[in-house]
Amino acid sequence: MAAALAFALAPACVAAQTPLDERILEIREQSRFMPDKALEQLQKLQPELTAAPSYTRAEFLSQLSATRMRLGQNDVALDTAEQVIALGKSLHDTAIIAKGMLAKTYVLFAQAEVDAAHRLAFEAEKLALTTQDYPLKIQATVTAGQTHAEQGNFPAALVKLQRAVDMARPPAGDPVSLVAALNALAKLYVQMKEYENASETLDELLNETEKLKSPGRMAIAKNTEYGLAIDSGQPKRALRALMQSLDLERKMGAERMVGITLVNLADNYLKDHDYPRAVQYAQESLRSTERTNDDSTAATARINLGQAYIGMGRVAEGKKQYELGLKRYEQENNKPDLQMALIEYGEVLERAGDLAGAISAYHRERAISNELFERRRQQAVLELQEKYEAEKKQRQIEMLSHENQVKGAEIDNRRLQQRVWWLLALVFALAAAVVGLLYRKVRHTNAQLEVKNLELKAQSTLDPLTSLYNRRHFQEFMRSLGPQNRHDDIVGALFLLDVDHFKHINDNYGHAAGDAVLKMIAENLRIALRETDMIVRWGGEEFLAFLPAIPRNGVDEIARRILTTISSQSLRYQEHDISVNVSVGFSPFPLVPGGEPLPWERAVNLVDMALYLAKAHGRNRAYGVRGFENFHLTSMEAIEQDLERAWRSGFVDLSVVLGGDPGTHPTTPTEHTNVVSIKHAAQTKGGH
Ligand code: GH3
Ligand code: MG
Ligand code: MG
Repeated sequence: MAAALAFALAPACVAAQTPLDERILEIREQSRFMPDKALEQLQKLQPELTAAPSYTRAEFLSQLSATRMRLGQNDVALDTAEQVIALGKSLHDTAIIAKGMLAKTYVLFAQAEVDAAHRLAFEAEKLALTTQDYPLKIQATVTAGQTHAEQGNFPAALVKLQRAVDMARPPAGDPVSLVAALNALAKLYVQMKEYENASETLDELLNETEKLKSPGRMAIAKNTEYGLAIDSGQPKRALRALMQSLDLERKMGAERMVGITLVNLADNYLKDHDYPRAVQYAQESLRSTERTNDDSTAATARINLGQAYIGMGRVAEGKKQYELGLKRYEQENNKPDLQMALIEYGEVLERAGDLAGAISAYHRERAISNELFERRRQQAVLELQEKYEAEKKQRQIEMLSHENQVKGAEIDNRRLQQRVWWLLALVFALAAAVVGLLYRKVRHTNAQLEVKNLELKAQSTLDPLTSLYNRRHFQEFMRSLGPQNRHDDIVGALFLLDVDHFKHINDNYGHAAGDAVLKMIAENLRIALRETDMIVRWGGEEFLAFLPAIPRNGVDEIARRILTTISSQSLRYQEHDISVNVSVGFSPFPLVPGGEPLPWERAVNLVDMALYLAKAHGRNRAYGVRGFENFHLTSMEAIEQDLERAWRSGFVDLSVVLGGDPGTHPTTPTEHTNVVSIKHAAQTKGGH
């Protein structure tokens, strides 16, 4: 059984930036072959480190971790690797985190925590590939390739290692990384039994290693050459390579590598069936690995020792050693190596005649083979599952984002609706305010209109000069007046006045004086009559008064009062005292000739005729129609045609009230006013 340097061969290389970086780089190379000396060197550098840049510190700690690991101090090594990861995380530096993860991967592998190591190896690779640190990228890719190979996935391993070699070539790569990548690739080809490719790669490896002038690197390359030679049936070349390697390692004092080379020597002699020599080298290797705590190589040494013993016929002893070695392989969970070891175990036992043992080894090998197959199958299923899960997740994310969009749209919609409502509310509020304002304005306007209407109505009912009612109002009033209750004692009365010789006033004093006189007359009429009496400006200088209720025998007295009140007052106008008389026609209202009440128009007409009589008989007097006599002998039409004749004929009873002297101021009304009831003697049958 040949021993492998697995992760111990992983490259790690940074471009040296400072003298300190350069020293660490040197120590790193030394650490591969002589970790104890490297540790001393690293510890000496410790004080300089506090002031160093973070990347230098990370590189230092990584090397410290690797060195501790090579010295079998796995716990300290793990702590140190964790420190690198923590440093990277605190600085958010992906390259440092990846570096720490790689360091941790190697420790985990050394601790035989293979699954965890494998997982971390891939994680570290993924992270490293996102950086621009080429040595780190190459190291991580090589580690990932080796991990695939350990899992038995050679095609994936090949892809990774070829990529690592490509990256390590100029211009991006560096010689140390290239040697490391080529070594890993050559070993993979051997493992895959592609000896031609392996040989080609090995040639390049030896060529490149020569340039490095590093005995350690050359020893590693020689080990790889041995692997190829022994597997491809070149025992002499194999032995030569091993001896060269052992020589280099011993000169360097690389104890760990010596242990590995010794195992390989034992293996070489086993293949030659030189069992005593095989035992010798295997035991020598065991002693060496005990010193270096290299349990992995020790396991291979035991398997070789076991094979040698069995070959020599010491079957029980051999099986004991063999099982110890297998146990460690199982611990490491190194299935491919375990499988190979079991195949060899079976062959050896078969040759030794232990058929039961051989069959048992064969079954164990089959189990592992099945397990490997099953694992690959499971991996494929897992990958499918992962892909499916990823797709499912993607779909879920899409669905969620779609849902989010829908929800967002809904929220937008709701917001819009709210805005619309607010806007509507605002519009309503504004509209209400406007309507309110308009309403107030309309009300105000209406109020104004009402005032105007009242004014208009007043204007239409009142005479502007005298503020007395106008003729139209009187007409309306009389039309609205219902049928009058007839009492014998209380009657209504109509008085129609016309100013005497009014023309003279206008002529003598001017029209304005005439107006003033008209106003004075109106005022005097108000004084002479009651508030309930209706006083109307009938025409230019004519007035009408309608008294709704007075004692029948008081009508003449009212006429007299009108005459005297007006004539007793004078108007002072431009140093003139103007006084006027009026003539009046009057009658009680209603007049009921022949039992039939006379319509108000005809009554006014009759009163107007009485006024005419007053004028005709000398003015400044009032003629009143008191009533009718022998009405059956005449008609209203006849009376209306000629009042005076009707009076003379005795059909009409008239009363005459005389005013005082014009322009004089009587002391008592009675002195100047005579009330005479005149009946035409000739026409009346009876007399009063
Ligand atoms: P009498 O009635 O006594 O026969 O004489 P009179 O001078 O009053 O004659 P008449 O009734 O014919 O003339 C009325 C005059 O009154 C005619 C007109 O110029 C005048 N008059 C009518 N209305 C007004 C008015 O509002 N103001 C003024 N200043 N004069 C008016
Ligand atoms: Mg007149
Ligand atoms: Mg007149």
